[in-house]
Amino acid sequence: MIQLSKRLMTVVQAVTPGHAVLDVGCDHAYAAIWLVRNGISPCAVASDVRPGPLLAAEANIKAEGLAGQIRTVLADGVPADYREYTGQQAVTLILAGMGGRLMSAIIGRAAAEGILPEEIVSSPQRDPDVLRGCLAGHGFRITDEMILREDGKTYTVIRSSADGQPVPELSPAEALYGPVLLSAGNELLLEELQKKKALIMQIRRSVSRETEKGSKRIQELDRETAIITEAIQRLEAVHGAKS
Ligand code: SAM
Repeated sequence: MIQLSKRLMTVVQAVTPGHAVLDVGCDHAYAAIWLVRNGISPCAVASDVRPGPLLAAEANIKAEGLAGQIRTVLADGVPADYREYTGQQAVTLILAGMGGRLMSAIIGRAAAEGILPEEIVSSPQRDPDVLRGCLAGHGFRITDEMILREDGKTYTVIRSSADGQPVPELSPAEALYGPVLLSAGNELLLEELQKKKALIMQIRRSVSRETEKGSKRIQELDRETAIITEAIQRLEAVHGAKS
């Protein structure tokens, strides 16, 4: 039986039960296997742009005896014909372990082709603000966010839904750090941001204002600090209200 990392477990647990799953950039296909094996998803499409990972995915699916329920597809981004396999049921697109810009490009292309699914569960490795902006731009409302630490790294998981409800506009702090996590006063996020702010202040002290490059860098760091400070204040306000 496959063993999921804490990160991937958080991703699969964000999928709405009963949805078929489309795991783009599936690599080993562990997410699709876990979801179908545990009866969360009736079927899955696991796709990857590279043949190597797809071969490994096929071997894993076969070893689990799930070849009848999980189809593999070699494709760059969302496979055009995935509904041929999932039928009319609601679909959750999983995008995990890629950067937010690549995920946004994949979502943008699928939107242009009119093949976006009902729900997207994503876990960007970087540029979360680009991804959250892209989700909002395509009518996806963030319905939940999780944050976790594993092997010294921090990961965020975002569940979003195109359910026709209004999509709130995001402030820069919300786009970067997550509207749900900020509203919940998430303690791990607060800890992360306090560390990040201290690091930025330390870097700022080492940059010289004397050069044009240095003063530009200071401006960037000050912009970043202002956004982090706003986020910290929001998180602390929730804590104050709780105690
Ligand atoms: N999703 C898995 C996870 O989170 O553990 C695997 C992440 S792995 C780091 C990223 C995978 O995305 C690779 O297997 C890579 O080949 C695939 N990938 C990158 N760009 C892609 C694209 N445009 N379309 C489909 N797959 C892509």
